[in-house]
Amino acid sequence: MDPAWLVPAALAFGLAVGVGVSVVIVRAHRRGQRAVAVASPAVPDGVDEVIDALESAGVVVDASNNVLKASTAALAYGLVWNQALAHPELIALVDRVRRDGEPVTVELHLPRGPFGEPSVYLQVRVARLGSRFVLVLADDRTESHRLDEVRRDFVANISHELKTPIGAVGLLAEALESAADEPAEVRRFAGRLSVEADRLAKLTHEIIELSRVQAADTVAAAARVGIDAVVQQAVDRNRVVAEARHIALVTGGERGGEVFGDEGLLVTAVHNLVSNAIQYSPDGSRVGIGVTVSDSAVEIAVTDQGVGIPESERDRVFERFFRVDAARSRNTGGSGLGLAIVKHVVQNHGGEVRVWSHPGSGSTFTIRLPAASPAPAAISTGAAKA
Ligand code: ADP
Repeated sequence: MDPAWLVPAALAFGLAVGVGVSVVIVRAHRRGQRAVAVASPAVPDGVDEVIDALESAGVVVDASNNVLKASTAALAYGLVWNQALAHPELIALVDRVRRDGEPVTVELHLPRGPFGEPSVYLQVRVARLGSRFVLVLADDRTESHRLDEVRRDFVANISHELKTPIGAVGLLAEALESAADEPAEVRRFAGRLSVEADRLAKLTHEIIELSRVQAADTVAAAARVGIDAVVQQAVDRNRVVAEARHIALVTGGERGGEVFGDEGLLVTAVHNLVSNAIQYSPDGSRVGIGVTVSDSAVEIAVTDQGVGIPESERDRVFERFFRVDAARSRNTGGSGLGLAIVKHVVQNHGGEVRVWSHPGSGSTFTIRLPAASPAPAAISTGAAKA
């Protein structure tokens, strides 16, 4: 080739390559910018900051219901899943508000996340935000619902369960009056009256106790509790009854277990198990209270050699006012609330209670609680007590 052409040809080739590469780079850049814009179209100015400052959970969605902004609380309540609203109920509300333009406020009972049983009550307000966006605000109303439930249960329990003994007291008082001239009859009716009065006292005490544990927020008042002391107190409170029935209360197992919680409530729970073990066992038998301690959990097992519980009834014994043998239980003064109280206390402490039983041979009730992590706990103990 003629060397005179070589330089301009090389220059032209270089220019062409340079222009080509520049065009490719500019296009790629533009495409990139478009992609970012699609992934996160701008939320109107200031809305981000407002949502972060609100106590309510907040979510902003665009015209296609993509979530553009979600506060931490909204994520914690499980309102958002995979950049979208997790619940069809919420999506329907958002669509309605977008269509009608009118803000709405409703209360929803939703699962915490895209599946599972509804567990949170949320007061939800949905409103349009400019022409393109919709704002969802949600406040947690679960606590006030729980307290309402406790109040309703309390009233229902009182009216249902107290009717019988109160009726009995009334009848006995009438009988007493009409037998005023017969001292033997008066003594007999007076004796029955005091049995009914004791039963009433026990029942009201347990109903109040159950309402208290249902309403209590154990975590808020949690302190480090030694399980050895809990077991000791629960056993001491049952000693007189056990001795009267010649039943041996035997404690054993590992010592030094600790949990975070409320000592009084835990003593009540273990006491109820020991008291049942005595109540449903023959005279002269043995009740064992054993403790197992591991890094993660503390277990308290109460074992008796009593009548046992048929398999068909085992799941139901923790229900309020459930008694396997109602007639027998009434004779022994059972209210059917003891195990419901145990279950609530244990649940409040983040634990579980299980039952094993063999009719005719005995039962074992086991409370399992999360162990308090061992202290270098200057910091954690202080925090827990605060
Ligand atoms: P109660 O006051 O009637 O004992 P609980 O809630 O404590 O009420 O117990 C519910 C029912 O479970 C009792 O009525 C009894 O039938 C059964 N139960 C509880 N503990 C035992 C046990 N250790 N052995 C056999 N049955 C038991």
